[in-house]
Amino acid sequence: MGAGYGGLTAAIELQRKLKKNEAEITLINNRPDHCIATWLHKAAAGTVDPSYCHVDVHSLLDSQKVKFVQARVECVLFKQNKVLLNNNTSLTYDYLIVSLGSEPETFGIKGLKEHSWVINHVDKAKQLNEHIETMFIKYRRFSDKSHYLHFVVGGAGFTGIQFIGELTDAISAYCKKYGIEQKKVKITSVEAGPTILRGLDSSLISYALAALEKKHVKFRIGTAIKECGPGYVLLSSGEKLKAGTVVWTGGVRGNKIIEKSGFSTKRGCAAVDETLRVVGQDHIFMIGDVSLFINRETNRPYPPTAQIAIQQGRLSASNVIATIRNQPLKSFQPIIRGTLVSLGSEDAVGDVFRHRLRGRKVLGMKWLVDVYYLFSIGGINLVLKKMGPSRSNKNLLPLRTYEKIYPVNWNDQDRH
Ligand code: NAD
Repeated sequence: MGAGYGGLTAAIELQRKLKKNEAEITLINNRPDHCIATWLHKAAAGTVDPSYCHVDVHSLLDSQKVKFVQARVECVLFKQNKVLLNNNTSLTYDYLIVSLGSEPETFGIKGLKEHSWVINHVDKAKQLNEHIETMFIKYRRFSDKSHYLHFVVGGAGFTGIQFIGELTDAISAYCKKYGIEQKKVKITSVEAGPTILRGLDSSLISYALAALEKKHVKFRIGTAIKECGPGYVLLSSGEKLKAGTVVWTGGVRGNKIIEKSGFSTKRGCAAVDETLRVVGQDHIFMIGDVSLFINRETNRPYPPTAQIAIQQGRLSASNVIATIRNQPLKSFQPIIRGTLVSLGSEDAVGDVFRHRLRGRKVLGMKWLVDVYYLFSIGGINLVLKKMGPSRSNKNLLPLRTYEKIYPVNWNDQDRH
């Protein structure tokens, strides 16, 4: 279930390793496409065309071996080995790999769900990008210009900082296109914790802060967003910031379907044993952002990252095959290669096998990671299709055309 990084990898692995007639494999996903989620912050800012951030699932699977069902999973009835789908149908299973991903966590903060933008999906990224451009159009059109070009980003984790990095790049293009001085644009990063990019080495954090401050990003560290409303955020300091755009990157939680199905969860994630099976459920593997797997070194769960989901996808598939063939199951031993964080299209920081790296070479590494992943799911054709120079956003249409598509009374609803 789920065609994200974990689920898709598992399906492809099963397709590769299972012999014909050894099993029936079904992949269920609510959309027809696999989302390249690690690029969404670029699509949201406008530096990559959103069409590059997803791939048709059918094109990645052998239909002779894997049946793809496009439907939304409503609930897992694990006592009956059944999955309920939104189209009033159900599927029975012998083995289930659950990889339903995460959703934004708003911690019950008033108005955040209704009035902020999130970057968890291609459609949302596209809508946010359209909204950003609309703010530039409104700025040109209306006399009260005070807040249209103020962008507030709540949460300075990896998603928030990478989005801000792209936004600083995109803004110079928008300013040029709409004839607006760049100094009129304000970006504020609001972070409740004591630092941005928590978990990274302090020298890399300082580098990232300095690089973004040089691009005129203002940081409010140790300050939480307490409330969000139309055109403003209220901070824990009591200050009210007016903003045309509030983007929420303050954290994620496991898909609510896991709780709804009756699994015992912590922030939406179910605990798994070392073979990735849900504790007490020998037929169900839980992987990726819905899986709570404890790192023995730190005694804390591994974070929900693509590299963990991909490795869990491979191992869960191998363990399903081992179960079918009455072979011993393997334990999950993640290889954490490190963390790469882009700061726009020119700069990045990275912690790779405990080496602290900065600058363009880190972007080169990120590029290699993307190439490797795309190659693993779709071969060289997918790499060429998705990594070519044309993925840079060509969406910067001539002004008049754009205003026709997004008139100034454009209705910015349905953000979540
Ligand atoms: P995150 O949980 O890593 O960061 C959210 C940040 O928001 C935290 O620093 C938190 O202190 C802050 N915050 C929470 N409430 C707040 C409030 N009310 N006001 C202001 N700030 C608030 O979330 P993320 O960046 O979306 O990342 C989600 C997961 O995905 C993480 O585990 C991350 O490691 C992973 N990820 C990894 C990469 C990468 O490896 N390059 C990229 C993106 C995401």
